[in-house]
Amino acid sequence: MNIVILGAPGAGKGTQADIIMEKLHLVHVATGDLFRQALAKETPLGLQAKSYMEKGLLVPDKVTINMVLERIAQPDCISGCLFDGFPRNLGQAKALDKALGEQGKAIDKAVYVMVPDEELVRRLSGRWICRSCQTPYHMVSSPPREPGKCDKCGGELYQRSDDNEKTVRERLKVFFAETVPIINYYKKQDKLAEIDGNQDISRVAKKMVEVLQAIK
Ligand code: ADP
Ligand code: ADP
Ligand code: ZN
Repeated sequence: MNIVILGAPGAGKGTQADIIMEKLHLVHVATGDLFRQALAKETPLGLQAKSYMEKGLLVPDKVTINMVLERIAQPDCISGCLFDGFPRNLGQAKALDKALGEQGKAIDKAVYVMVPDEELVRRLSGRWICRSCQTPYHMVSSPPREPGKCDKCGGELYQRSDDNEKTVRERLKVFFAETVPIINYYKKQDKLAEIDGNQDISRVAKKMVEVLQAIK
């Protein structure tokens, strides 16, 4: 099974992916996490992505698509991936279809998690991330058991530098201009499911699992 989770920055893609991958045994492929890991290690990939991420712009397709193709060629991806933060424009969506097609696979479902803009801004301004395993927390909606410490791995929590108001606005603009068109792309292929993301994390997860378990 290969699934795409679509949604604006802060919609809860990473949060839901963490829950679903445990339930459905899929590998979580999150391009933002891959870029941040590369950046933390100061690899050439990380350095290429840095200036775009800081501005809230998309990293060029060539770099992003190559990174994803390398990731999905690894053996753990054989039985399926949960794509989070990718594809983010039509070129990426088409490149993903082509790569999966060459392996005799396809995207089974694209789930669009819908959340109003004001709520996105609220979520991003209170988001804390684990430096080791990238699990997202929120100081109000999803706080860690111990302040500043990841429940899962004990790692240090930090706030992303691109979760500031100016960059968040830019990321939302980019989402509407570049990512929203792929919602239609999956709709035309009859692969789209839309979920109300403006409810409790557990309710969104329940809906998400229902949608994914209904795939033949
Ligand atoms: P994305 O990966 O789509 O950018 P995240 O999963 O990182 O979004 O979630 C953004 C922030 O919102 C995090 O702080 C997370 O804890 C919080 N969050 C996620 N889902 C919900 C929800 N359903 N209700 C309230 N807060 C949420
Ligand atoms: P969010 O969780 O807020 O949706 P991500 O962690 O997915 O954000 O992405 C952070 C940044 O990484 C983006 O603003 C962008 O610069 C870069 N990035 C992530 N995924 C992609 C992608 N598919 N194409 C281009 N750039 C990307
Ligand atoms: Zn952690």
